[in-house]
Amino acid sequence: MSAPYPRVALIGLGLIASSMAHAMRAGGLCDEIVGHAKSAETRAIARDLFCDRVCETAAEAVQGADLVVLAVPVGAMAAIAAEIAPHLKPGCTVTDVGSVKGAVVQAVGPHIPADVHFIPGHPMAGTEYSGPRSGFATLFQNRWWLLTPLDGTEPAALARLEGLLKAMGAQVDAMDVAHHDLVVAVVSHAPHLIAYTMVGVADHMRRVSQSEIIKYSAAGFRDFTRIAASDPTMWRDVFLTNKEAVLDILGRFTEELFMLQRQIRMGDGDALHAYFTRTRAIRRGIIEAGQDTAAPDFGRGAKPAGD
Ligand code: NAP
Repeated sequence: MSAPYPRVALIGLGLIASSMAHAMRAGGLCDEIVGHAKSAETRAIARDLFCDRVCETAAEAVQGADLVVLAVPVGAMAAIAAEIAPHLKPGCTVTDVGSVKGAVVQAVGPHIPADVHFIPGHPMAGTEYSGPRSGFATLFQNRWWLLTPLDGTEPAALARLEGLLKAMGAQVDAMDVAHHDLVVAVVSHAPHLIAYTMVGVADHMRRVSQSEIIKYSAAGFRDFTRIAASDPTMWRDVFLTNKEAVLDILGRFTEELFMLQRQIRMGDGDALHAYFTRTRAIRRGIIEAGQDTAAPDFGRGAKPAGD
């Protein structure tokens, strides 16, 4: 297969960008990968591990690129877009991997020249690790990559980007920007906030010691700690930029929590049983859709989370 985009520029060289680079290399999906990140340290690591070339500025990195991927935290997208705009090759495609789409479209869209295709995107794949050493070629295998094409997006440009994402192993779906932000508030953003809160609660407890929490954490808490170890900058930006949808879901969450709290207080076992039966069916659905393993303990055996 010929490379969908001969030269790819990655702006931001952390988990998502490095995984893309490894996947593109493994599949022979481009001829050259050029990168830029804020720090000289990250740029040096990326040059050693997965970039053909790194540049000190984003403006330099995008010159002559057929595909530009913005893989920085959502809050950094606007400044990068303003910097690269005059240097983009006519006819190239700019996409991003930000976890929020409305804010990115607002921040990036106005800077993109008329002769450049801007197709926002979001890979629904990640780990709690970040930085240029954390990527791996199979991160996107069988994971959804959501695209939120804007009015007037050329079908050929969309198909070309979809071709690359599918060749990296992803499944691709397209949806409207606002709907995307609501969907991810339910499946990703609110769960992260709940995990952060639960770990915060444990941290503030005085009657259960830190060493007991760590020692006995296998019973469910461990998965919260894994999620709550995610990158603080990325997640700060997610909550600041997907405020409306997250607050909507948290409002519903709080109502359900109060309902369950009341059922526990009243000893309403039937109601609790019915509720947990419904939630169990959702887990079965996720396994049947191939989005997780049915193996006990997520197939981790006795290993700690994250291994
Ligand atoms: P990451 O591992 O923390 O890497 C972020 C990268 O952005 C680093 O290379 C950093 O450079 C660079 N950067 C930050 N500010 C910059 C700036 N002003 N100019 C140039 N480079 C800058 O992050 P990630 O997990 O790959 O996330 C990247 C994007 O993907 C975010 O928008 C996030 O919302 C989205 N996303 C993340 C996940 C996930 O689970 N992690 C999943 C889906 C989507 P330095 O290393 O030099 O600081």
